[in-house]
Amino acid sequence: MQTRFTDAQLAADPDLARSEGILRKCVHCGFCTATCPTYLLLGDEADSPRGRIYLIQTMLEAQGAPDAATVRHVDRCLSCLSCASTCPSGVDYMHLVDQARAHIETHYQRPLADRLFRRLVTAVLTRPWAFALARRLAGRMRWAAPLAPGRLRGMIEAAPPSRPRPATISPAPAPAARPATGLRVGLMKGCVQPVLDPGIDAAAIRLLHRLGVEVVQPDTPACCGALPHHLGQTDRAHALAQRQIATWCALLDTAPLDAILVTTSGCGTTLKDYGEMFRNDPVWAQRAARVAALAMDVSEWLDRAGLDLPLRPETRSLRVAWQAPCSLQHGQRIRTAPRRLLEAAGFTVVEPTEAHICCGSAGAYSLIQPDISRRLGARKAERLDALSADLVVSSNIGCMTQIAGAARTPVTHLVELLDWATGGPNLPSGVVINRPVQG
Ligand code: SF4
Ligand code: SF4
Repeated sequence: MQTRFTDAQLAADPDLARSEGILRKCVHCGFCTATCPTYLLLGDEADSPRGRIYLIQTMLEAQGAPDAATVRHVDRCLSCLSCASTCPSGVDYMHLVDQARAHIETHYQRPLADRLFRRLVTAVLTRPWAFALARRLAGRMRWAAPLAPGRLRGMIEAAPPSRPRPATISPAPAPAARPATGLRVGLMKGCVQPVLDPGIDAAAIRLLHRLGVEVVQPDTPACCGALPHHLGQTDRAHALAQRQIATWCALLDTAPLDAILVTTSGCGTTLKDYGEMFRNDPVWAQRAARVAALAMDVSEWLDRAGLDLPLRPETRSLRVAWQAPCSLQHGQRIRTAPRRLLEAAGFTVVEPTEAHICCGSAGAYSLIQPDISRRLGARKAERLDALSADLVVSSNIGCMTQIAGAARTPVTHLVELLDWATGGPNLPSGVVINRPVQG
């Protein structure tokens, strides 16, 4: 579509020039509206990708402060990128909405309570010690939630309880079922997942060791920058991303890695985008691109390596529902690897209707837009429960927490299930193998 940026505007700002290129690709066909969760729920063109693209164009062309309506509609976007998967013109919506959020953050004065709340959310969620403390406090204060003022009440109610698990969570290396392969991978330790469920990385390590792969993991958990990035807080996002990049480059300088694996697909999408994030930064561009080039979702890597291990016969009696996180299917365009892995491990795999629609978790979205998030969570849970599966399998802690809070079917992570299938100790709590094992 036509844009009305001036040459001087485009020459002065490379980010604006990139956004102009993205905007020009949109032909306003509207195909994307059919797969946008906020449009499905709210039915308002301004809450569709096409409507938001129009609002973003108007805002960026005018520069200066956007109006409150533009901010409201951009804020409601989940960054699920379902629209990018649908778009026949290849509109790079992710980078466009990133720039819109950064522009809003620097040009729009939100009400003080909003500003403080958004800062509090990223300050707490990106610091594992603070998140662990906040979660403990929220757990103790749950009884007082109805008395707390609006947003505080929402935060207390949204604080996820521990996922019910079996007692044994052992990060101890499993005996290698395959001889050492000489492969050496890094495993990212993020911020929210190690607090909510340290068993996921422990399962990934056991599984990789069983495959004869050496695993290196930084000692300290650290945010990749995704949470503040999605709220337009560019400085904080870049500072966290730089810490992540520096950690991996230091490890890479001591010995090479075949890949940097990520067990939270939302973080994986951000790591893979580091090269783009720092493309105009002469100090960080090269190191960021080095880390981005090695980043892989754990399912992507396992699918390539092959899960050639002895399997428990019980896997054949379990029917599992694969819940594809948006960050995996739309952000990283990984659509078939998890299902292939689950089927190779013997499970019967089913998928819900509307598998492409977001569950409403979307990083900090469930705290910032609790109403839309809850409605999407309930919609997803209903479709997953309708499958009558023994368990739901996903690969993003945000989706897992959201679904666990709304669905009857127990939820687990892909690597936890594959670890169990190949001899690991932990079948997720609540799963009962009550069908006869076939053949
Ligand atoms: S599908 Fe693509 S080209 Fe069509 S309106 Fe949506 S973003 Fe624009
Ligand atoms: S990212 Fe998701 S919520 Fe946002 S416009 Fe695209 S489809 Fe809609």
